[in-house]
Amino acid sequence: MTIAANDPNLKSWIEVSENSDFPIQNIPFGVIKTSEGTRVASRIGDKAIDLLALFVLGYLDNLPFQRSDFETDALNPMMEKGKQGTRALRNRLSKLFSEGYEDLAKNDHHVQQVLIDVNEAEMVMPVKVGDYTDFYSSEQHAYNVGCMFRDPNNALLPNWKHIPVGYHGRASSIVVSGTPVHRPKGQQKPSEDEPPVFGPCKLFDFELEMGFVTYEGKPLGDSISTEEAEDYIFGMCLFNDWSARDIQKWEYVPLGPFLAKNFASHVSPWIVTLDALEPFRVSGPVQDPKVLPYLEYSGDKHLDINLEVSITPENSEEKVVGNSNYKFMYWNMNQQLAHHTVNGCNIKNGDMMASGTISGPEEGQYGSMLEISWKGTKPVAMPDGSERKFILDNDTVIMRGYSEKNGVRVGFGEVSAKLLPAK
Ligand code: MN
Repeated sequence: MTIAANDPNLKSWIEVSENSDFPIQNIPFGVIKTSEGTRVASRIGDKAIDLLALFVLGYLDNLPFQRSDFETDALNPMMEKGKQGTRALRNRLSKLFSEGYEDLAKNDHHVQQVLIDVNEAEMVMPVKVGDYTDFYSSEQHAYNVGCMFRDPNNALLPNWKHIPVGYHGRASSIVVSGTPVHRPKGQQKPSEDEPPVFGPCKLFDFELEMGFVTYEGKPLGDSISTEEAEDYIFGMCLFNDWSARDIQKWEYVPLGPFLAKNFASHVSPWIVTLDALEPFRVSGPVQDPKVLPYLEYSGDKHLDINLEVSITPENSEEKVVGNSNYKFMYWNMNQQLAHHTVNGCNIKNGDMMASGTISGPEEGQYGSMLEISWKGTKPVAMPDGSERKFILDNDTVIMRGYSEKNGVRVGFGEVSAKLLPAK
């Protein structure tokens, strides 16, 4: 599929620095807040583009949008127009801000109303998430966890290569980058023969994931095939799925994750459309054993997205502790969505689906401290002389991600959050 807005030769009349995640080939969507209010925006370089102002000035005429789609605090109304609507909007923005298109560029008064320095805009949670699902789709992550808690010769559970395993999470506590999180409290069971205790989590961890946001799906009872899946996916973000490992260990049998997972997850503020990621498609791993027919797919359905995660202790330097890639996924988004709906479960506009922790095959490519420190047996040395097995109070965890090809870099910016002590 050729999308004009992805042309690597396009340049914007807005200045874009060389290593920016936001060249004109990106055109992500987010929600900004300034003294003038909250509204839908896009971004090129270090400028947020006020879509409400663009709409009011008439630059978005003849598209299927109305003022209230932009004069709002979430992308959901805009996303209700579906893939055709948001694709046409992205293509229009590409045209308006391309070099050579001067109607807007030469009108200083309009430019002033439309462009806002990103430092002057607060990013708010981009999507009102109705339902949140977390998958478990990285083979290396599932293998590592299986090695640690079961047996290296039998690390993957029998269902893992047949089912894109997932669970229903909590939507209310998904928050935007920059929101502080308090160390959660809960029950833990220190050892087999002691009773459970209550207190702050001692094994606080991040999970390096990517999330995808859906358009309105089909009616209850219908299914979305792997072939159709992309028509129902709006875009992606970085996703930090915090985990309280000690609480999780005690609570998860027999029904799975609960309080160890639902206290907070963080997302990056700009949703990068699936259209913008199209040039970075790659093939996935050979799936052996063969999957059931409803999970079969054709074409390149994986994405080459470089990922990194770092820890910054308070008043100290940042240290990168893991470098992974979204292409390491065993199950792709098409398969996840097909599986999610195969029983007739309906997905809604604004649902969030996360990948599961993304770990690569090498040490150094792991996506959680559980794996990086191998259950605490291999502490990580920090620049300030301290060490980390898990996340300590007042540490800031930052995840970044970008794709790069043919001299074009399309990125996600970052998702950052500081861990505050337990309340
Ligand atoms: Mn997770």
